[in-house]
Amino acid sequence: MLDVIVIGAGPAGVLAALRAADLGARTALITRDEFGGMAANDGPVPVRTLAHAARLIREARQLSLYGIAVSEPSLDYTRLLARVREVVNDVRKHSALREQIDSLGVTVYEQTGSARFVDPHTIEAESGLRLQAEKIIICTGGASRRLSVSGFELTSTHSDAWGLTSVPPSMLVIGGGATGAQVASIFNAFGSRVQLFQAGPRILPAEDEDVSAAVANAFRGSGIVVREDFGEIESFEKTPSGVRMIFSKDGARDSAEAALAVVAVGWLANSAGLSLATAGVETDHRGFVRVDAYLRTSAPHIFAAGDITGRLMLVPQAIQDGFVAASNAVRGPMITLGDQASPIGSFTDPEYAQVGLTEAKARETHDVVAAVVRFDSTTRTIIDGRTTGFCKLITDRATYKILGCHVVGERAVEITQVAAIAIAAGMRVDDLAQVPLSFPTYAGILGRVAASAARQLNLKVIWQAHQAEMD
Ligand SMILES: Cc1cc2nc3c(=O)[nH]c(=O)nc-3n(C[C@H](O)[C@H](O)[C@H](O)COP(=O)(O)OP(=O)(O)OC[C@H]3O[C@@H](n4cnc5c(N)ncnc54)[C@H](O)[C@@H]3O)c2cc1C
Repeated sequence: MLDVIVIGAGPAGVLAALRAADLGARTALITRDEFGGMAANDGPVPVRTLAHAARLIREARQLSLYGIAVSEPSLDYTRLLARVREVVNDVRKHSALREQIDSLGVTVYEQTGSARFVDPHTIEAESGLRLQAEKIIICTGGASRRLSVSGFELTSTHSDAWGLTSVPPSMLVIGGGATGAQVASIFNAFGSRVQLFQAGPRILPAEDEDVSAAVANAFRGSGIVVREDFGEIESFEKTPSGVRMIFSKDGARDSAEAALAVVAVGWLANSAGLSLATAGVETDHRGFVRVDAYLRTSAPHIFAAGDITGRLMLVPQAIQDGFVAASNAVRGPMITLGDQASPIGSFTDPEYAQVGLTEAKARETHDVVAAVVRFDSTTRTIIDGRTTGFCKLITDRATYKILGCHVVGERAVEITQVAAIAIAAGMRVDDLAQVPLSFPTYAGILGRVAASAARQLNLKVIWQAHQAEMD
């Protein structure tokens, strides 16, 4: 019998296996598909490669502004997909984690097909592989939610982008969360006529309201039809050139059609095929595995980490989860995940990102100051011709600590990393205002916005008043 079996080789599973082996446990990592999981093979890495291509197209369109003459960019989608495959392979090849896993003696079983519990300590895979262990860590991630409406099989998910042979002339994107917004933005840049449908009142509902509004406006400005609060889907049906979505609102029926309909309406747990009940592992109503602060499931010898637990579904969180779950599985429940500053963002056009509380959430529990600096007032954005966007900083009036930062515009995701460090360090806003950030940079906007907040709080900021004119 092994000490630890980890199921799923995404970021959570890889880290869990690595940590367990590092602590001296005899460990096996078993995964349905390839090493790396969704992050490497179907999520961030390939999608962000497409987003980079979209960025190159918009940068190419700027060349004439700087006196550089080239012809209008045109996209060879087949070549782009080949590049995506190159990137995915390269990332996999250079994964230091793979080397470490191998050098620590973890036995990795890839392409095993789905694994499931046959009893609380035994795992069996479709390939016939059967393993037993004292402790088991479930890291099987999630999958796109399917809708139970007629004709749903005519729709696609973001993963189907890899199977397309050309850019569809038109596209319906259903779901205005992070994945839907990313798909809409990329394919709009590639030349598809995109309609983005959001059932709720605003796209990007997890973002600060000003961010949602700014991204929706910018999307509309770039030609995407954004339909918020569109009603309820009744069905999908085939048309000679693609697919039609029938929907209704307040009794009125409407429809929209396109060559392709991509549905991104949420993320469900990959738990259905695991036979969790056999092992006494409880799930919530969406199938996510219930865990305590130690990432222990309702079966004390079984742990879970990453997307399968249904919390913040991001790579850095999956990695931390994997570490915590394996540490506790091998040494006993000792470490928990604290409250953390977790930056979240997306590489749409325009980019957006956040860390900490939104303004509305912060106002529920704190007396706050919200300072905003617009991108059209900073030197670097003017130099680069990227003046759409803003940076908003939320500060607690009582402690002067930074509670949240929300950015729309070029390099929003990178700017927010710096804000995350300030929040994690518990910095006061006037201290942030006095850090001499490089000029002219995108991150420099943080100095400006911090100085603005400090002024509203009547805090002395010795030199930022002058720096503010520069940045
Ligand atoms: C389009 C898209 C873009 C994203 N972009 C970002 C981003 O920019 N930044 C970011 O931080 N996050 C991003 N994410 C989220 C990120 O990919 C996930 O949070 C992360 O991959 C979760 O890691 P995980 O290890 O929990 O699961 P996964 O990466 O999903 O890995 C799960 C593994 O389990 C295996 N598995 C599943 N069921 C079984 C079974 N029964 N038996 C054996 N093996 C099984 C799967 O084959 C897979 O290898 C994105 C997600 C999507 C969909």
